[in-house]
Amino acid sequence: MKLIKFGNPGSEKPGVILENGKSLDVSAFVPDYNEAFFESHGLERLNAWINDNAASLPEVTVGARLGSPIARPSKIICIGLNYSDHAKESGMAVPKEPIIFFKSTTAITGPNDGLLIPAGSVKTDWEVELAVVIGKTARSVKEDQAVHHIAGYMLHNDYSEREWQLERGGQWVKGKSADTFAPFGPWLVTADEISDPHHLRLWLSVNGEMKQDGNTENLIFKIPHLISYLSHFMTLLPGDVISTGTPAGVGLGFAPPQYLRAGDVIELGIDGLGTQKQTAK
Ligand code: ZN
Repeated sequence: MKLIKFGNPGSEKPGVILENGKSLDVSAFVPDYNEAFFESHGLERLNAWINDNAASLPEVTVGARLGSPIARPSKIICIGLNYSDHAKESGMAVPKEPIIFFKSTTAITGPNDGLLIPAGSVKTDWEVELAVVIGKTARSVKEDQAVHHIAGYMLHNDYSEREWQLERGGQWVKGKSADTFAPFGPWLVTADEISDPHHLRLWLSVNGEMKQDGNTENLIFKIPHLISYLSHFMTLLPGDVISTGTPAGVGLGFAPPQYLRAGDVIELGIDGLGTQKQTAK
């Protein structure tokens, strides 16, 4: 099942895309894909309800704006330097333990809403990433149980202001959190539809020129390890997002570095998780 949210910013409704390609409005069943939804076995209940009611549900208008597929989560946790080729281009060592940082949840935006380059920024950069959405509360989870805590997967562009991230002291969160720096979607694809999340191509282009072209098979720390690892430091709540890191080809890695300017068009995708397109303003 693919979950979507559609409509104008701030008043999106939940929907689903069925296997036959039809998009249905399911707002009569659930107000949002939030912590309460995932925690109460919402995916199973929604699936059963759709089976009973699909014929009578309104269809989503073709071309409707899509928002983030999920409600604002309690946290977005990002993994730094989780592809060795990206660690190398960043001039940093391959980490011995996962590097983690937070990204403000106010950075979340729809998949095609556009990028607002923040006032004063000269080093806004891109990062295509596979994001994992937690489906069940995780506390001190063992690695072999971690898969049971996954609701599904989304495409994420982990926009990053490199000066604020790396040259202003303190934590990376400064450069990761501006408004529109976390486009999610177009869909949340439920875990049952992704047979191997460690074998997905992910790519990103700027103005039609391919910049990143990697595969999640090259993740240094795999998803079960990340969930287990994080859950020993903090409780992961249903709806929380773990963004698993980016492969080589970010602007910082070019000589000289390439950063985004107003008018640039950024397109990205992951096998099975759809595509995004943002124009920088
Ligand atoms: Zn990242």
